[in-house]
Amino acid sequence: MNQSRRDLLKASGIGAAALALGGVAATSASAAENPAAATELLPKPTGKRVVIVGGGWGGLTAARYIKKEAPEAEVVVLEKRDVFVSCPISNEWLAGEIPLDFLTRDYFTAAKNYGYKMIQTTVTGIDRASRTVSTTTGSIGYDYLLLSPGIAYDYTKWFGNDTLAAERCRQECPPALMSGSEHVALKKMLEDFEGGNFVISVPDGPYRCPPAPYERAAMVAHYFKKNGIEGKVIILDPKGKPAPKGPGFLAAYKELYPDIVEYRPSSLVKTVDLDKKEVVVTVTHPDDRTEEVRIPYAAANLMPVNKASEIVAMAGVSTGKAGWGMMNSPTFQSKADERVFVIGDAVGGYPYPKSGAIANSQGRIVATHIAGLIQGRPALANMTLPDNICYSMVNGEEAISIGVTFSLMDDKDVNGNDIKVIKPKMTENNTRSTALGKTTHEWYKGMMRDIFGS
Ligand SMILES: Cc1cc2nc3c(=O)[nH]c(=O)nc-3n(C[C@H](O)[C@H](O)[C@H](O)COP(=O)(O)OP(=O)(O)OC[C@H]3O[C@@H](n4cnc5c(N)ncnc54)[C@H](O)[C@@H]3O)c2cc1C
Repeated sequence: MNQSRRDLLKASGIGAAALALGGVAATSASAAENPAAATELLPKPTGKRVVIVGGGWGGLTAARYIKKEAPEAEVVVLEKRDVFVSCPISNEWLAGEIPLDFLTRDYFTAAKNYGYKMIQTTVTGIDRASRTVSTTTGSIGYDYLLLSPGIAYDYTKWFGNDTLAAERCRQECPPALMSGSEHVALKKMLEDFEGGNFVISVPDGPYRCPPAPYERAAMVAHYFKKNGIEGKVIILDPKGKPAPKGPGFLAAYKELYPDIVEYRPSSLVKTVDLDKKEVVVTVTHPDDRTEEVRIPYAAANLMPVNKASEIVAMAGVSTGKAGWGMMNSPTFQSKADERVFVIGDAVGGYPYPKSGAIANSQGRIVATHIAGLIQGRPALANMTLPDNICYSMVNGEEAISIGVTFSLMDDKDVNGNDIKVIKPKMTENNTRSTALGKTTHEWYKGMMRDIFGS
């Protein structure tokens, strides 16, 4: 191991056990072969310890602010990836408008700047009874556990239990709702595209970043237009119209890409014929008649049903087939265990969109709760609700936007009892402009400064 890496790990306080294991994500096989994997990742802290699973938008925000509000606590982030690559703004990178550097950050600098510990490892189990998280490189105890592990894909509606077909689809028609090889493969697909149909499907049910597929379609069309590529971008949407920012997207498709983008509403992907390169779609007509159509593709970006990362079920705080974390609304504290919190895209049951802005906002809020619990304060008093702002680029310069605030309102349940419900208030700006395009980048840079300090 070179000197600088040793110093870095020493400075970050990562213990001998983690160092002995390379301090990086080992595979299950190497963990199984190495008895040290059963050892503790870190020595026991003198005070309280908060373990955060997932170093993404929600997890890293919470790490920063817990440490700020309760500096006496030890905050440890467990993250399986080696480098942070942002999904927000990635559609611009896809279309060649910004370099990859703009999307990437290292995990070490933020941990050092904000005083939390970062361990690159993959979480494999959570035992709430003993308050222990197991990973491929060792285990770690916690006083409070915060999960922000994001989403997973559910291909069963398209391929049943055929996991090989599901994986083939993920690789050949990458959904690119998670950063990494899927994004890079999609970009290569676009750069190699020589004409024909470029099919983009919108997921059925709640999914990560509702405007992302519509923005991606616009940016792919922008790439075609800029590079003189003869091709069609076909958007298959199970909904009747794009949402959010529907009028803005439809205007952009019509005015900027009239011969390129074809938006097909009420078109639900039934399955994919990967050998013939055809998407099989059930179209529901306005008179409720349904029809099955086959759409050939030269390239496809097919986004399946989303579900919560398996981490939420691992902790035993998930609900339903999709496994979203079910919290005591309006807090992010688990219904099953007051020491466990879930934020970000893995949460269900709230009217919150699955966005980075919301995950960041939730990270700040949950940090206050957890810091309060650590310091013996009434943590959940004076509840603040998260808010959301989201910009979508429609070409190399212009964007549209939506802002959402939430408030706790009085309501009645089915039995007529008084209850409080969270209600959204949305403000859409569907008039595309270069000013909003500039604000998009300012927003993103502000988020990166907040989460990473640079
Ligand atoms: C194309 C696209 C564009 C988008 N644009 C926007 C936008 O403009 N604005 C906006 O607000 N949002 C946008 N989003 C949405 C945003 O990226 C997500 O909502 C946000 O990342 C959610 O944060 P999170 O913390 O819940 O999950 P993530 O940021 O995904 O973080 C989860 C982390 O958990 C880690 N993890 C998972 N399992 C394990 C394990 N077993 N062990 C260890 N680590 C694990 C993952 O590696 C990951 O780093 C966009 C998304 C996409 C796909």
